[in-house]
Amino acid sequence: MLAPQTIYIMLTHYCPLRCRHCMVNSGPDSKPFVMNLIMLRKLLRDISRTPSVQRVVFTGGEPFVFYQHLRLAVQEAALLDLSPAVWTSGLFLQDPIACPSYIKGLVEMGLTTLILSGGPYMETTFPEERLSDLQTRLYPASLFLASLEPKPPYDVPDFSRIGVPWIDGPVSYMGRASKLVETEGQTLWDPASFDTCPHIDLTNPTALHVDPWGNVHMCPGIPIGNLRHQSFRRILSTFRVESHPIADPLKRGGPYELAVSHGIDISEDAYADACHMCYSIRKKLLHKHTLGIGPITFYV
Ligand code: SF4
Repeated sequence: MLAPQTIYIMLTHYCPLRCRHCMVNSGPDSKPFVMNLIMLRKLLRDISRTPSVQRVVFTGGEPFVFYQHLRLAVQEAALLDLSPAVWTSGLFLQDPIACPSYIKGLVEMGLTTLILSGGPYMETTFPEERLSDLQTRLYPASLFLASLEPKPPYDVPDFSRIGVPWIDGPVSYMGRASKLVETEGQTLWDPASFDTCPHIDLTNPTALHVDPWGNVHMCPGIPIGNLRHQSFRRILSTFRVESHPIADPLKRGGPYELAVSHGIDISEDAYADACHMCYSIRKKLLHKHTLGIGPITFYV
């Protein structure tokens, strides 16, 4: 049985911002769809019966777009002792009048951590001079500043981040971030260099991601099941990496093996990092519906 420690619950894919590093292509063009409350409550109950899980993180898109929903989600998770965190761009907290009531409403419900995105790729960031006020208002919850940074263009890709969440550090070039490869003039490397996944133990990932349509992903865009067809616990107990058409080759030989095993011609190609290659290959495989890659909105 998989034993993840953190579950990222994407309440919505919609976001008023279109940040350049977004791994899941969220933005103003995404549908303003939110995970339904029945699915969410059932998911949280199942998570609470999974002893390995230490925390849930509500994210998006921008979770503050559906603030009342977010509040209920935090309350439910706190009642189940799931140490709820919220990950936001901080857009809705930029208004100094609205910010205190937004924060109070979540802290009252049992919020433990607010993760605030920053960094050079954001379309807009929370004002630095108001950070200490935000921290004070959050008490007893804590504030964590997340920032993805550009990789120096000539640096060798990092292969040593297994289990490290994508909260800060160098950006991985997947989703919308894949477009940065060209604008930043990133060095491109031979596909055979990418013979391992640098972030995830594909046999037993430390984190899983659930999207608003109920897909449970081991990495955004690589689903291993859907909550409309199976319970969360059933997905964890039945997953076998050897039977998964994407995770299995990734485990055996990284994105290089993913391309080779699915017959993708990479003889003329080169990539900035493993995630850039993995994402590009998966995009080429999207039309093969039997592979279950998706949802499509993460790839367009
Ligand atoms: S995009 Fe591929 S290589 Fe990168 S972390 Fe995800 S599964 Fe691993």
